[in-house]
Amino acid sequence: MESRSVLLKEAHALQCDAEDGLARFREAFYIQPGIVYLDGNSLGLLSRRAEEALLRALDDWKTRGIDGWTEGDNPWFYQAERLGAMSAPLVGAEPDEVVVSGSTTVNLHQLAAAFFCPEGKRSKILADELNFPSDIYALQSQLRLRGLDPADYLVRVKSRDGRYLAEEDIIAAMTEEVALIVLPTVLYKSGQLLDIPRLTAEAHARGILIGFDGCHSVGAIPHRFSEWGVDFAYWCTYKYLNSGPGGVGGLYVNRKHFGRLPGLAGWFGSDKEKQFDMEHDFTPARTAGAYQIGTPHILSMAPLFGSLEMFAEAGMEAIRDKSLRQTRYLMDLIDMELPDMGFVIGSPREDERRGGHVSLEHPEAARISQALKAHGVIPDFRAPNVIRLAPVALYTSYHEVWRAVQVLKRIMQEKLYERYENKRGVVT
Ligand SMILES: *Cc1c(COP(=O)(O)O)cnc(C)c1O
Repeated sequence: MESRSVLLKEAHALQCDAEDGLARFREAFYIQPGIVYLDGNSLGLLSRRAEEALLRALDDWKTRGIDGWTEGDNPWFYQAERLGAMSAPLVGAEPDEVVVSGSTTVNLHQLAAAFFCPEGKRSKILADELNFPSDIYALQSQLRLRGLDPADYLVRVKSRDGRYLAEEDIIAAMTEEVALIVLPTVLYKSGQLLDIPRLTAEAHARGILIGFDGCHSVGAIPHRFSEWGVDFAYWCTYKYLNSGPGGVGGLYVNRKHFGRLPGLAGWFGSDKEKQFDMEHDFTPARTAGAYQIGTPHILSMAPLFGSLEMFAEAGMEAIRDKSLRQTRYLMDLIDMELPDMGFVIGSPREDERRGGHVSLEHPEAARISQALKAHGVIPDFRAPNVIRLAPVALYTSYHEVWRAVQVLKRIMQEKLYERYENKRGVVT
């Protein structure tokens, strides 16, 4: 057992890097000199391989024109399905249970439109009070579209402490009135990882369908959606999957639901053999591809080819292992270096309950975040008092984690944050 004080030494960080089996992936990314980027859970960095994949798509357009749909190494007509198959190992699904399409919010609309089937008394949607607002807005509008008042029909499980959700509370809310449950895999503020298999089993035991928002877990944590029987899931690809701003989202539908009509139908959800027959009778694909709507955003999904190849090479287990080590190291350093500075770690300490980032709470979080940024450490601020720090397994080094804490310590000891205004920017 190494004593905890060993962790404090710079040499320890350098040794961890030397022993890191994923260290080689860092070179594939564009990392700004001197900057410690800990915001990969909001927008992942660009890799050379993602860039090359995008340039290849542009070149296909340049040289092939319309024939890019059917010719070349990655004919655009099959791109969403091919990227879905490449994403499937990340979520533990069959290749045809995943498609790359839409965005997080659009996919939730699509899936709620298909899977929310109110019948008699069973007519409510169960969500939680800590979820990302966009998910809640989508569910509210889905209810309104069915003539149901969200004030009565959207049930939001309460948090006991404003940070975490208790699985028992969620299960207790699974009443006979609930038709559909939508929850995040990992909470975007605290980084709590919910017990997905347990919640899925409890929902199904009560005849309730359940879907998950995987924005904060896909690319950071392995999943076994098919094995757990999760009905559907959706996620973005611009966070841990590094597909670029506005990159196309992903969705999973368990194969037991194949053949169900998509809620929002469009011609790209057609059986591929039938699509160009141009008939007015819709024949949906018997795959997750049925949930596509219109023409895929080819250029916004192209970077994923390069990015997903790296995930296949690195392996999700190794990524999760490094991510857990780095978040644990970060929390240990904060405990030891900043004991009396008013920080509270607002993320679970237990590995099996923690996602990919550490949430650091402080009354001066807004000003501290600005000071961090000015001193070369890029955090993510979430009002009113949360600083999120995400070491990303594919490109963050242990030495960077160590440096970030050194910078934070200086900012606190010298009260450098007092030079900044207590307000947030437009985006974070
Ligand atoms: C990032 C994120 C979103 C964003 O939705 P978009 O449709 O991609 O803008 C939604 N939900 C959660 C939980 C997120 O973390």
